[in-house]
Amino acid sequence: MFGKNKISRLKNHQGNFLEVQEIFATIQGEGPYAGRPAIFIRLGGCNLQCSFCDTEFDSPKTINLPEIIASVIELSKNSKHKTVRKLVVITGGEPMLQPISKLCNKLLKLKFQIQIETNATVMRKLPKAVKIVCSPKTSQGKYYNLHPELLARINAIKFLISASNSSYSSIPELGQSKYKIPVYVQAIDEYDLIKNQANLDKARQICDESGYYISIQMHKILNIR
Ligand code: SF4
Repeated sequence: MFGKNKISRLKNHQGNFLEVQEIFATIQGEGPYAGRPAIFIRLGGCNLQCSFCDTEFDSPKTINLPEIIASVIELSKNSKHKTVRKLVVITGGEPMLQPISKLCNKLLKLKFQIQIETNATVMRKLPKAVKIVCSPKTSQGKYYNLHPELLARINAIKFLISASNSSYSSIPELGQSKYKIPVYVQAIDEYDLIKNQANLDKARQICDESGYYISIQMHKILNIR
């Protein structure tokens, strides 16, 4: 995290196990599914090293698919054992680095909805029902290209905005207009009240001008993961 993670590469195997950082029940705080109770499967490893990254994903454990699915089913239930969390968010790190298709297929068969959170630099073929939310990232002031095949099927794009980091000062055109992908604008959390307020103000101004959606990190307001 904070740009100190080691770089992970694409893994290609049958997908009968995955490198998992954590699985937990929460409320999706960001993007198009914000506010929905969800189960997060956070996979280990990322191919990028963003300096503001506040996610721990560098100490994963290898877990077999049946064990992952059992955890998801368990976490989907409320205190009365009723299934109330039907959204599974597969995130990271960068979840597309690992062979997640088998997991997605099994979860879809169990009637879960699936959302992937990706930086969209890596392509992996996934079932059509899986929703892809992309958050583009930069290196030395330039955005990484979004994988063209993935771009064509992204369901929402979430741009980060900062008032002080020139790499994230405006919304670039990365191909989202061609595919009419809904745009969300989210202030970067810089762990500094004054900077964060400036980032929120800037994100709101951009939305006022463009008609894009604002994305607030609800889970941080709720003080949950
Ligand atoms: S792409 Fe996402 S997970 Fe990877 S380092 Fe950047 S912010 Fe962190």
